[in-house]
Amino acid sequence: MYQKKENKLFKIIQIPILTDNYSYLISDENSAITACIDPGNFDEIDKCLKENDLKLDYILSTHHHIDHVGGNLLLKKKYECKIVGNYHDRDRIPGIDIELKDSETFSVGNNDLIVIETPGHTVGHICYHFEDNSTLFSGDTLFSLGCGRLFEGSCEQMVESILKLRSLPGNTKLYCGHEYTESNAKFAFHLNSTDEKLKKKIQQIQKKREKSEPTIPSTISEEIELNPFMKFDDKKFLDLIGIKNISDEENFKKLRKMKDEF
Ligand SMILES: [Zn+2]
Repeated sequence: MYQKKENKLFKIIQIPILTDNYSYLISDENSAITACIDPGNFDEIDKCLKENDLKLDYILSTHHHIDHVGGNLLLKKKYECKIVGNYHDRDRIPGIDIELKDSETFSVGNNDLIVIETPGHTVGHICYHFEDNSTLFSGDTLFSLGCGRLFEGSCEQMVESILKLRSLPGNTKLYCGHEYTESNAKFAFHLNSTDEKLKKKIQQIQKKREKSEPTIPSTISEEIELNPFMKFDDKKFLDLIGIKNISDEENFKKLRKMKDEF
């Protein structure tokens, strides 16, 4: 069911849960410390922990939506783990113990993360960046070839959030909260059907999905190149898709509206 990415010290287990969510286990083999990013339910995470003979030390919550925090309380009860989340969402992250703010750091065993606040999808959304491991857990802020809907935040906030993620090193691996890549690709192709790199990427995506394999992780550089929501200030791209360049916020708003109505 799930895929293992082996690294000496930093192991990521990708777990497809619910309909199209991804939850992740990260474990540090030296210290035997394990964290789960966004456990959307209890059963599937518990099963995966058992199968891999892992205990659970931390839950890292990106935002309060139930498909990301649905397993928090039961996992906490069983494993006595600590729940980490955004200080500003302390009232909405079930079971929160450790409240972090933008730019604050936290360690999962020997692996350090830095919190990046990315309001937009929700106002209290955060991403977890493991800089030394070139890994970003982006929740529902940035997807492969797409971005999260704006349920709570403004376009201005989302633009700021995307700019933060766009400034990360290109080789940063992007682990997001949903397998939406194939439908995102349809919108990206609709906007720009002549992009050869996008065509190639779409072929790879389709091959993977035919075999029910994940299309995640992607990388920041791949997203900068192919994700329409990373290009709200790219004049050539805006020209091509018929959006008049007014401001980053206005351009983004139009782009998001086009996707929502696609
Ligand atoms: Zn969400």
